[in-house]
Amino acid sequence: MPQSSANPTTTAASSLPNFTDPTLAPNLRTWVESANDPASDFPIQNLPLGLVEDEEGTPLLVVRVGDSLVLLDLLIHSGALADDGEDGELPDDHPMHILHAAAHHGMPLPIMQYPSCWSWARKALQKFLLDGPAGGQQMRRLREKAVRPVSEFNLVPPVWAANYTDFYASIHHAKTVGSMFRPENPLLPNYRHVPIGYHGRSSSLVGSGTEIRRPMGQTKADTAESPTFGPSQRLDYELELGCVIAGQNDVGDGVTIDEAPGRIFGFVLVNDWSARDMQAWEYQPLGPFLAKNFATSVSPWIVTAEALAPFRTTGPARDAGEPQPLEYLRGSGASTHWNLDMHLEVLIASESMRKAGTAPVRISLANFKDCMYWNFPQLITHHGSNGCNLMPGDLLASGTISGPDMQQRGCLLERTWAGHGPDGKPAPRQPIMLPTGEKRIFLEDGDEVIMRAWCQRDGYRRIGLGEVRNIVVPAKARS
Ligand code: CA
Repeated sequence: MPQSSANPTTTAASSLPNFTDPTLAPNLRTWVESANDPASDFPIQNLPLGLVEDEEGTPLLVVRVGDSLVLLDLLIHSGALADDGEDGELPDDHPMHILHAAAHHGMPLPIMQYPSCWSWARKALQKFLLDGPAGGQQMRRLREKAVRPVSEFNLVPPVWAANYTDFYASIHHAKTVGSMFRPENPLLPNYRHVPIGYHGRSSSLVGSGTEIRRPMGQTKADTAESPTFGPSQRLDYELELGCVIAGQNDVGDGVTIDEAPGRIFGFVLVNDWSARDMQAWEYQPLGPFLAKNFATSVSPWIVTAEALAPFRTTGPARDAGEPQPLEYLRGSGASTHWNLDMHLEVLIASESMRKAGTAPVRISLANFKDCMYWNFPQLITHHGSNGCNLMPGDLLASGTISGPDMQQRGCLLERTWAGHGPDGKPAPRQPIMLPTGEKRIFLEDGDEVIMRAWCQRDGYRRIGLGEVRNIVVPAKARS
């Protein structure tokens, strides 16, 4: 049977320290009214970075606020972001130069290379957005030109990552998947010692809204004598959180556990699409390949570490008798406080549901802090521990985020798994029932998968990551 909720790691006490960062003060309001709605993911305290295209296809670096976005290049050229009294030349090391370079080229990478400029930018942007009268026709015009509805632009797939790495850091995911093959001993012996990961492929990172074409591939049924080539019959999603890396370490250097929190720029939602039948046939002995690299979707807004500070917490306590992490992964202070009290959900809408106007249905809901065995500073430190250079904008994904209960499982491989029968063989999978009467074990063509994540805590504004949504389209036959 899948692991039950008996594991006490889900009930370990967490601590959420108070933060006095003035940019997070809950009473801050903006003249962008939609951002003041308590249900908005994007209040003035969030200010995530994104990339859009205008009608001519020019990439524009933007910041999301409520239902609108701020056009950074236009705002910088207006002079409205400069500090009071800075009417002459800015010093060479002024953060505005970094922001200017990034906004001018529609490229967020300079900001991740020199992330301290973003602390300055947050304050400057908040000053521009703070509630109050425009105070003159010039500012009124600037507000109208620089802050535009999101709906006026195309969201650009945020494929900024030079490198994409995928981990396996949720212990409940590892246990449930492991139990399918090793019911008596689901976790492999290395799991509690070494953060497991593999190198993904950045060229197929795509944005929210991109159609996901069902992959063709080689599969072999257990009962078949030889493999066949055709459309995957077991297409799946994986709910993950992606960390966007700040700064850089040279090849040969590492990242210490205490340096690792400073390497976290922000987070996006990640859907690591997976073809389970292809995976089962190809993964031994070298690991995932074509079952994983045909598409990975990323949400459009990078929510920064600063905006998420109030929701940082300790991870689940290790059970008595479990090994402690090796010294290089142990850390102290901030590095032990980098789990996140973040809710994540997956919803699905079939083509028939959309045609009937039926709302998407939620099929899983979990909290990141209850699911993770390794936190991001540990993943970053381990990644660099052999001298691997982590680059600004690199994407490190958590691995499928699953809790111990069936409704907390972040992929269909686990979500429809019904354990083993009395004969020791896998029990028939338990389908998910949709409002139309349709059943799902794995994804069908036309299915739309929607992932959302948000943080909420008394005394702070809700901070959300928004959503990543994609529709599965039929395989493209190749002759
Ligand atoms: Ca994955």
